[in-house]
Amino acid sequence: MKQQKRFTCSSCRKRRVKAKNANGRKITKKLCQPCYDSDKVSVFFGSSAGDWFTKRAIEHCTNSIPQDTQGLIELIMLYKQASRDKGWSCTNGKWSSRYDYEICHKDPRKGIDFTGALVVGNLFIGLKSTNRVMSNHEPITNYGYRIKERGESITSGNARTIISGLYELDKVVNECKLTRKSTKTPSDFIDRLSISPDCLFIAQLKRSGFDVENYTLDPEFAEEGFQILHDMPRSFAYSYLVQHGIRNIPF
Ligand SMILES: [Zn+2]
Repeated sequence: MKQQKRFTCSSCRKRRVKAKNANGRKITKKLCQPCYDSDKVSVFFGSSAGDWFTKRAIEHCTNSIPQDTQGLIELIMLYKQASRDKGWSCTNGKWSSRYDYEICHKDPRKGIDFTGALVVGNLFIGLKSTNRVMSNHEPITNYGYRIKERGESITSGNARTIISGLYELDKVVNECKLTRKSTKTPSDFIDRLSISPDCLFIAQLKRSGFDVENYTLDPEFAEEGFQILHDMPRSFAYSYLVQHGIRNIPF
């Protein structure tokens, strides 16, 4: 067997063999396998939530992403919620989701003369179909998340440096329980945590502070409801629900 080159690990200072990532490739950092595995920064960027955030941040600038660690934690929790709501299943190693949901902006990401912030207050979980139609159209309401001055542009070249400089990623990894994406083929399963569009609509109004505990929406109005969520103040969506929703009668 070919002898592997040893080097001094920059973390534990021991003479070791370089770590490999989940794809079996040697990493660029001078870390041994045990130190790499416990390195939270690499766990963050190797997780699906960290990957999602990094890609989204590249469409933004330093002024329109969360300004502190707590803000990023809230955002990652919203991402995880959206992922659960979709309902994943796996058949013959192929992943699919039951519903097509995505994280949508209230003040659009690319507005005329502004960027809509990538922070939880400006986001909701909505239908992908509605989001694609309504995307970047100027909503009637200004939700107060329009960032006028451009900060430093985040690019694929500087994203990791900016993100690891701005947030305590070890805290994010621990609090959001992030793990590296697995490359192993999972066995077949269906997860039943998904929620239907009509229930998602109510959950999103609840996030906006409305007392909608006892309401249900007629499922055929879900798409229309989401269009209103994109466009109008939450109070309109609430009156829409009152108009088209029926009270849940507990029995
Ligand atoms: Zn080490």
